[in-house]
Amino acid sequence: MVAGAVGVVDRVLAQVGKRVVGYAEQQETMLVQAHSTVRAAPCPTCRCWSGRLHGCYRRHLAERPILDKYVVLCVEMRRFKCMNAQCARRTFSEDIHALAGRHQRRTRSHARALHALGRALGGEAAARLAVELGLSTSADTMLRELRRSGDARRMPAPRVVGIDDWAIARGHRYGTIVVDLERREPIEVFEGREATAVADWLRAHPTIKIVARDRAGAYSEAVETALPRAQQVSDRWHLLTNLRDNVERMLQRLGPQMRQAAQQVVVGEATLGRQGSTRGSGLRAWQSLSDDRRALRLAQYEKVMALHDQGGTMKGIGRELAIDHRTVRNFIASGAFPERARRARGPTPLDAHRQYIEDRIAQGCRCPRQIWREVRQRGYAGSRATVQSCVVRLLSPQGRPTLVAARVRTMPCPSARRALGWLVGWRKLAVEEPKSVDHERFVQALCQIEPVVAEARSLAREFLGLMHRRRPREFDRWLTRLSKCSAPEMRSFASSLRRDLAAVRAAFTLPWSNGQTEGHVNRLKFLKRQMYGRASVELLRLRVLGKN
Ligand SMILES: [Zn+2]
Repeated sequence: MVAGAVGVVDRVLAQVGKRVVGYAEQQETMLVQAHSTVRAAPCPTCRCWSGRLHGCYRRHLAERPILDKYVVLCVEMRRFKCMNAQCARRTFSEDIHALAGRHQRRTRSHARALHALGRALGGEAAARLAVELGLSTSADTMLRELRRSGDARRMPAPRVVGIDDWAIARGHRYGTIVVDLERREPIEVFEGREATAVADWLRAHPTIKIVARDRAGAYSEAVETALPRAQQVSDRWHLLTNLRDNVERMLQRLGPQMRQAAQQVVVGEATLGRQGSTRGSGLRAWQSLSDDRRALRLAQYEKVMALHDQGGTMKGIGRELAIDHRTVRNFIASGAFPERARRARGPTPLDAHRQYIEDRIAQGCRCPRQIWREVRQRGYAGSRATVQSCVVRLLSPQGRPTLVAARVRTMPCPSARRALGWLVGWRKLAVEEPKSVDHERFVQALCQIEPVVAEARSLAREFLGLMHRRRPREFDRWLTRLSKCSAPEMRSFASSLRRDLAAVRAAFTLPWSNGQTEGHVNRLKFLKRQMYGRASVELLRLRVLGKN
């Protein structure tokens, strides 16, 4: 079996003019001896062939393991004399470039295995696994090999690139990733996202004609200074996100109207909320706790508004009251005290038996335990506590039954984010939910109370259609309508689009977008976390740029 494996080694070595003459097994290592069969070789300087032997030496090359043993090839190398009188070189050795690089102490196949492990796992983890797989190495060697493979990469000059930032330490240090959008490959990762750092990189790549970027100012500034003739493309995903944020801000401001609309929607049994049925003692405690929290929040809201009226800045108010400045901003933007959205409850196993429980209570049964036994016989598999709290809720404190059917239940007021999802029906950009008749009724009610919502809805939906069709003229008409919208949030979105008009229009005419770049940023984040966030930017760069 070993002889068979050595036969395979022999065939590989024959390609570089070597012949296996023997092998020795020493504990964990197999040493394969090979002689040279090369009679003449070309001089690397003058390319003249020479057959004048000068001497011999041996090279030891680590190879991938065979049959659980480390393999070392002990290869004879012949040195020849250059016979060309004009050549500066006196002697040269034969070329085994196909087997191993210059001065390398491992074969190319061994190095390739290390590169692949290094790119997949980073330094330490890859070195540990490599030793396990019989490729003796250390973490430092692994990094050195990774660096060597990174330097050796030759890239065609990029024409269309996407630029995005990523967090090295969120809120403190950021890096930049550049992706060749035509070849769908990351081509550079470096630290910093300031205009100067990005401009330096861009200046070194004058072949770039189109740059897709997010709507951050630094990148646009960098492209303008370094490559003033390059076409900038605003990223479609960021445009959509900006639109979403603006519509959401508008809905936050319309909090009172949203609550009014929610009260007009009578919900079906399946989306029953907690409200209107808080009679039990446990639930009463829960309710009072929630009331306490609301009171605290209301007090905080009033303090914020008082300070705001005195001319305090959002950050200043946040510092003074020790709350996040975003909370302050939400309070100020919402126009009235923003109620917490109530959590809508899904269907429960008890729903099927609710009618039966109501009937039994109407018949005069007061014992929750008895009712639990009965519903269990009817196939209910849930807990007793659920039945008990349901029975307690249906019984008033005086012990008189109050029939649920007599009460009208309205929809709990949704959060702005959820209402946005119902309004525009975008998946991924909003909370994903199955479509419901109640949601649509809520949207209709809201549009009636506040016609501006209907206006924003049609503008937002049209925007999505424009992105698919890519007709710049339609986009211009749409932008004019957006600038005249009665909601200030939409108008501010319009003016932000106008500030970056050339790049935004390009987004509607050119096929390039930063979707790919976002994907590569996600991969980068994954690699970063895989190394516990402790890897240097350099190692991260090597792994991101390496093909896997
Ligand atoms: Zn020569």
